[in-house]
Amino acid sequence: MTSRVELRNLRRTFGSTVALDDLDLTIESGELVALLGPSGCGKTTALSCVAGFERPDSGAILVNDKDITKVPANRRDAAMVFQSYSLFPHLTARDNVGFGMRIRKVAAAKRHSRAEELLELVGLPSVGDRYPHQLSGGQQQRVALARALAMEPSVLLLDEPLSALDAKVRVSLREEIRRLQIDLGVTTLFVTHDQEEALSMADRVAVLRGGRLEQVGTPDRIYEHPATAFVAEFIGSMNHIPGVIDGNRVAVLGQYLPIDGDIPAHSDVDVLVRPEAIRLRATDGGAGLVTRSSFRGATARLHVDLNGVELQADVPGHDAAVLAPGARVEVSLVERPALVTERTASFESN
Ligand code: ATP
Repeated sequence: MTSRVELRNLRRTFGSTVALDDLDLTIESGELVALLGPSGCGKTTALSCVAGFERPDSGAILVNDKDITKVPANRRDAAMVFQSYSLFPHLTARDNVGFGMRIRKVAAAKRHSRAEELLELVGLPSVGDRYPHQLSGGQQQRVALARALAMEPSVLLLDEPLSALDAKVRVSLREEIRRLQIDLGVTTLFVTHDQEEALSMADRVAVLRGGRLEQVGTPDRIYEHPATAFVAEFIGSMNHIPGVIDGNRVAVLGQYLPIDGDIPAHSDVDVLVRPEAIRLRATDGGAGLVTRSSFRGATARLHVDLNGVELQADVPGHDAAVLAPGARVEVSLVERPALVTERTASFESN
């Protein structure tokens, strides 16, 4: 039932807008890949091409090595769930889920029992008789998911399915979708602009920029080792600290840290460091000054002025009291930098 999906050199333009610019991406069988990127980078267009709602201008889509680029949407083995729940308002939850089976002329009794099974699978065992307007947003989205699964698709396409839901429902549904996806082993392409959602759900995250693939990798790889300043900035918060290359180390904030890569010695560089990689120690003679603090529970995000460089650091929440605005601090880095870029290069990319 599962499939390997390949997007090869997909290009799609709308007038002078290039929505997809030679996009290459492979989703392995049973894998969940999150497509992440800023608004307009081509996420939905890529998904629509896989679903068959859009035709690429050039390039190909392969499923298990078979070219399906010209196969019409209704003959593709893919089901899509949209951001808006898109249920049929005049049908009950059970009939919504069974809709595809009705088209395929599955007998009513079988259709109903299968629909009930699927509703149970998505955690809604007793809403079969209800109409969409009698369901909450989260419940409607579960029904939409059950309806997609009823098609027994080998590829599941999810276009921001959680973004219309409130934060708590979003997190619980996120976990459930992932659990179901693993249980069913269905190859899934998941579009989101929410980086936390992408990192927490996906086997791999594909970051798109201007219709191209900027980086693809496991969530921790993308987070810990962003390939470019764009990825580093897009995912999580990032400090930019001036440094100088010295051999295979970088001198930054009076420390030497090891680096990967090949940057000529003595170059001025931008050292990209996550807020959680900065350690602060309160001390009267510290060169840093805490200027702002926002308490977040488990952690607090502090803003620190260090000789004119503005830093953001995350500290354990219970340290927030001693590191209040006005406190002097010593600043050090506890991890190797996420990325080191040459000064000129990073200014260009900004
Ligand atoms: P968002 O996160 O805002 O949904 P996205 O990454 O999904 O954005 P797409 O919807 O794929 O981006 O759009 C990519 C680009 O193509 C955008 O510039 C968009 O305006 C343009 N575009 C998409 N569909 C059409 C269309 N039918 N007609 C004209 N332009 C389009």
